[in-house]
Amino acid sequence: MNIPKRKNLKRVIIIGAGFSGLQIAKKLRRDKYQVILIDKNNYHTFQPLLYQVATAGLEPDSIAHSIRNIVKNTKNFFFRLANVYSINTCKRMIYTNIGELDYDYLVIATGSITNYFGNKNIEFYSFPMKSIPEALNLRSLILQNFESALLKKDIKERQRLMNFVIVGGGPTGVELAGALAEMKRYVLPNDYPDLDVQHMNIHLLQASKRLLDGMSEESAKQAYKNLKELGVTIWLNCLVKDYNGKEVFTEKNKKIDTVNVIWAAGVKGALIQGFLKDDIKKNRILVNHYMQTIRYKNIFAIGDVALMNMNPSYPNGYPMTAPPAIQQGNYLVNNFNNMNFFLDKKNISPFLFKNLGSMATIGRNKAVCDFSCFKLKGFLAWIIWMFVHLVSLVGFRNRAIALTNWIIQYFHYNKSVRLIIRPFHRKKII
Ligand SMILES: Cc1cc2nc3c(=O)[nH]c(=O)nc-3n(C[C@H](O)[C@H](O)[C@H](O)COP(=O)(O)OP(=O)(O)OC[C@H]3O[C@@H](n4cnc5c(N)ncnc54)[C@H](O)[C@@H]3O)c2cc1C
Repeated sequence: MNIPKRKNLKRVIIIGAGFSGLQIAKKLRRDKYQVILIDKNNYHTFQPLLYQVATAGLEPDSIAHSIRNIVKNTKNFFFRLANVYSINTCKRMIYTNIGELDYDYLVIATGSITNYFGNKNIEFYSFPMKSIPEALNLRSLILQNFESALLKKDIKERQRLMNFVIVGGGPTGVELAGALAEMKRYVLPNDYPDLDVQHMNIHLLQASKRLLDGMSEESAKQAYKNLKELGVTIWLNCLVKDYNGKEVFTEKNKKIDTVNVIWAAGVKGALIQGFLKDDIKKNRILVNHYMQTIRYKNIFAIGDVALMNMNPSYPNGYPMTAPPAIQQGNYLVNNFNNMNFFLDKKNISPFLFKNLGSMATIGRNKAVCDFSCFKLKGFLAWIIWMFVHLVSLVGFRNRAIALTNWIIQYFHYNKSVRLIIRPFHRKKII
């Protein structure tokens, strides 16, 4: 990888420039460590707004930011664009598509991947939304299917192109359903005057008995009400069993004809080969209170990929969301910068997650927010949702573009980026 070793500096390799890994890469002391950041993309993705890229609300480059631009190329810092395949914990080596490298300390911050719960048909035929290429794929799918629907004489075939099924009623599913419903209401009648938009149906399928499982009952009811008002058909207690590319089958023998299934039903840790079975639980790497892996004192895991199950309030680990990832990154970098951490942990406090709340938006003027002392819904919640997302976006340029787009859309009821740049394609299963 062409990175010379410095004798007087310990080498720290960070795999992943997401919410958690970036905190470490930005703040780790260069006078104490040689810092190497590796990511398979040369940009950081702001995943909470992926659904707006998929529904033609935002351009992809307003939710992505160049890693080299975020972490400036200072002395003793190196970024490499590479996919890390495996780790040899005994030799202290990582193996990537561009070569191998040894480490003194390793931080795994690889995030998560879509979980299809082992169903290969669903993996092949449905569309995930976990990365920018996947969101762009969805954008092309949605727009191309409207174009195709225009040409269909057969009503059943046309209907199949205009039925949208979102599987998973968490924040991603709810936000996507709201955005599609608004597209139906405000965009399609103008763009496709010769297509009867009433044929567009949006189905939201949720396996449990309510939406937004991680939020309060009150917020879940509000989201349900708002989506119903927008014309979304919601199926609760509805577990998807299979999908053949044309029909979705549920456990209760319900069948929906559609070529558009968007899978937002779950994620699992993005693991790297090299760990023993006992080091992994629920597809995440087990860590102690200090984010240290159970077996290897010089390997740490943070963010979605890490499972810390010692806090009785979170027996299944912290939620796979941005706040724990950011807090864990900040916690670990402070420990790294405090050199006593590796000598004696007596004065080091364990990681404790501060839950600042959660939120979801359900179309224009509508959102729900759960904070520890109060809950909000409606316009004020929507303003807070927008503010939080704007300030969390990386880079002034991205914030300015997103805000400008939102203002234009708000007053013109128009999504500006309905472009099919390249045709959609299905995922290949190896
Ligand atoms: C559609 C969607 C909507 C979401 N909405 C919200 C929300 O509203 N609020 C919220 O709090 N959270 C939300 N989340 C979850 C949140 O984005 C994640 O919890 C958060 O990104 C986790 O941070 P992380 O650092 O663990 O991983 P990520 O931010 O996912 O970063 C992982 C990084 O590792 C890199 N990587 C992975 N594997 C390798 C490898 N083998 N080699 C090299 N590089 C690798 C990836 O390219 C990526 O850059 C959403 C997620 C999705 C997908």
